[in-house]
Amino acid sequence: MIIPKSPKLTDAQLTEIRSIVGDFNCSIQVIEGAGQNVYAIVGDERHELMINRIEGLAYVDRVDTIQSPHKLLDVRSELKNHRVVFGGVELGKELLLIGGHCTVDPNDANKFFETADALKEAGVHALRGGVWKPRTNPYSYQGDVKALDVLMEASQRTGLPVNAEVMDEEQLDIALDAGVHMLQIGTRNALNYSLLRQVGQKVAGRDTVVLLKRGRHMGPVNEFISAAEYIVNFGNPNVVLCPRGTLPGLEGYRNQPDESITPLLKEKTWAPVVVDPSHSVGKAMYVESCSMAAVAYGADGLCIESHLDPVSGLGDDPKQAITPEAFKSLAEKCRAIWKLKRG
Ligand code: PEP
Ligand code: MN
Repeated sequence: MIIPKSPKLTDAQLTEIRSIVGDFNCSIQVIEGAGQNVYAIVGDERHELMINRIEGLAYVDRVDTIQSPHKLLDVRSELKNHRVVFGGVELGKELLLIGGHCTVDPNDANKFFETADALKEAGVHALRGGVWKPRTNPYSYQGDVKALDVLMEASQRTGLPVNAEVMDEEQLDIALDAGVHMLQIGTRNALNYSLLRQVGQKVAGRDTVVLLKRGRHMGPVNEFISAAEYIVNFGNPNVVLCPRGTLPGLEGYRNQPDESITPLLKEKTWAPVVVDPSHSVGKAMYVESCSMAAVAYGADGLCIESHLDPVSGLGDDPKQAITPEAFKSLAEKCRAIWKLKRG
């Protein structure tokens, strides 16, 4: 819908606009209002270049598009009945709980196995564990492929599926070959479309689930949904949206907590939402409240950093991991909220 700056377009302006939309196989329908005409674009209005060309015209106030920019993830899309299943949970039916170290220490496999056992006892459906680590400071520990063996052995021992982040094509191939069940695309790569394309192409035809974190610099929620839709576009609809806080952070927290965008995501898309409270608030003592808020906002699951002995952990664990014991109590409270909300 094109809204001009003046009450109506002149004949010359209308001709110019008709010519632009004609280049994209669209036409214009004039809608005459009492004091203001508007001009409907008839046809597929998702051509970004067409919209840019119209918005660039000095006499156009704005263009409002009606069609969803992310058609496969849209609540009305043909995939709307698709259900993502992970860790034995059909998302939306039961609160999905994922827990584990921020970073798996390849030199202390037993610590990860012990955490995994304790988390299984606490009720998690899946384990998380960083193998390759994106870091804020490039001189911090960046992970080690040897940690992947530890992660996969923990999966075998517990029978739980695992989540690990990949940051490039080589890591993607290694993780898929090893049988990682859920690939995580972290906040720093949420807008890395060439990585998203490789992930989409390589998970097509597999039952791998992709958890896409919200970019910490992402703008409107549509940007997040479109990035997830790009992965689905290659053929595997098992995508999960993960709010994890954005920048600039709220003073006292690591990021600006954003579990509150869950209802917005749900209104626009059918994709499940799994909130990461750990990176959002960034301190163990706030994780429980953030998790409860996320479930109250309608999250389908939680992905939480947890460590049997956080102080001895790597990466974020010393500051933001909660113990499996704390996880168990958090899970009980969150399930109670789930019941209140969903009946
Ligand atoms: C992580 O999950 O440990 C991580 C680095 O996540 P994010 O991309 O959200 O910072
Ligand atoms: Mn982390």
